[in-house]
Amino acid sequence: MTSDLVIIGGGASGFMGAITAITNGVRSVVILEGTSKVLEKVKISGGGRCNLTNSCVEISNLVNNYPRGEKQLLGLFNRFSTTETFDWFQKRGVSLKVEKDGRVFPCSDSSEDVISCLTAAAKNSGVKVLTNSHVKQISKINGGFNLLVRGNNSFKAKNILICSGGHPSGRRLAKSLGHSIIQPVPSLFSFSTAESSLSDCSGVALDVQIKLKVNNKKYSGKGPILITHKGFSGPVILRISAFSARNLYRNKYNCELRINWLCMHENEVRLKLDLYKLENAKKSIFNNKPFHSLPRRLWKSFLLSLNVDRQLKWAELSKSEKESLIKCLTMKTYLIKGRGPYGEEFVTAGGVSLKEINFKTMESKICKGVFFAGEILDIDGVTGGFNFQHCWTSGWVAGKSISLS
Ligand SMILES: Cc1cc2nc3c(=O)[nH]c(=O)nc-3n(C[C@H](O)[C@H](O)[C@H](O)COP(=O)(O)OP(=O)(O)OC[C@H]3O[C@@H](n4cnc5c(N)ncnc54)[C@H](O)[C@@H]3O)c2cc1C
Repeated sequence: MTSDLVIIGGGASGFMGAITAITNGVRSVVILEGTSKVLEKVKISGGGRCNLTNSCVEISNLVNNYPRGEKQLLGLFNRFSTTETFDWFQKRGVSLKVEKDGRVFPCSDSSEDVISCLTAAAKNSGVKVLTNSHVKQISKINGGFNLLVRGNNSFKAKNILICSGGHPSGRRLAKSLGHSIIQPVPSLFSFSTAESSLSDCSGVALDVQIKLKVNNKKYSGKGPILITHKGFSGPVILRISAFSARNLYRNKYNCELRINWLCMHENEVRLKLDLYKLENAKKSIFNNKPFHSLPRRLWKSFLLSLNVDRQLKWAELSKSEKESLIKCLTMKTYLIKGRGPYGEEFVTAGGVSLKEINFKTMESKICKGVFFAGEILDIDGVTGGFNFQHCWTSGWVAGKSISLS
């Protein structure tokens, strides 16, 4: 039996591709999923809540959340973007909510709702889903492809859509069809540091400005940081880890992280300290801090790291101590020694080279009839629902163009 379309991988992009293709006229669509369950990543995503997209609607801003694929997504998002994703799920019964930081979740806070929606939409439209069907090999035959599945079943297809995510087997299949693979490296991770002065600050979170130096390349960012027992995490760290992922990998995750803990210029901090010193001359430095945004534990750890006497009054702070404190508050440098654990989300940077894809259709330029969508491509986003958004978009465009081919 020959299917019009066989999709390799039952993840977010595979389901979106399948549903879009069949509802737009492709007659027979089969999803081959290697494991025993589909949509497993959707299930664990967002801590079980599934952050399925973001409320960012301005496409020129939206693409800034993709360290790789920014240019290609510009055209794709013009066809299917965050608004379309929102409508797509709401229309199919998943009520969505937007959180303060722009992340979009099901109102139920359960990824199961997203899974039920996708599996029901696939079933109702006639998509055939086969689990435990790991594709081992693809060969070109007259009028399409032959797919060999573990256990030696085989499937014939006119078109194939490869949606195997970050799994190496999908990259191997793509390579066997002549595609170039950009080396996969991890993205979206926290940083480890040997810095002991922050050991009492684990769990502290605040908004900061950061600068990262890897070799001679510099990156910067602003946003919430989280001090962990091993180093730093939080949205601003995960974001900078994504933008510097390849460089950091090359440098074995050694780099310098400079933090402005107050997001203020040093002159502004100096003025504020001078004024506070005058007004609070007799008060203890340890117990009275001039900056409300700075958590007490962090303030104390800075003073301790500078060996400030615990009994010191503001009037007794020397000029050199004050200057060291300003430096510590606005430009403290930490040596990063490695990659920490992942946050709630991680993705692979790298995959099928974007040069080999026609982004009007998601079809390969190397092998006609082969389409790609999702994380298998050398496209990845920062945290916030951007990775799933890319999956919905590329899956939708692929499904739509297969229906027109
Ligand atoms: C813990 C965690 C949490 C996350 N949370 C979020 C979040 O909240 N928001 C967000 O936007 N992103 C999140 N992400 C990222 C997001 O999950 C991925 O970007 C997305 O799942 C990629 O979808 P995909 O369809 O491309 O691939 P996948 O979801 O990985 O699906 C690929 C499927 O293909 C199958 N497969 C692979 N090879 C073969 C083969 N040879 N034959 C048959 N089947 C095969 C795999 O078993 C898998 O089921 C998270 C990631 C992780 C790891």
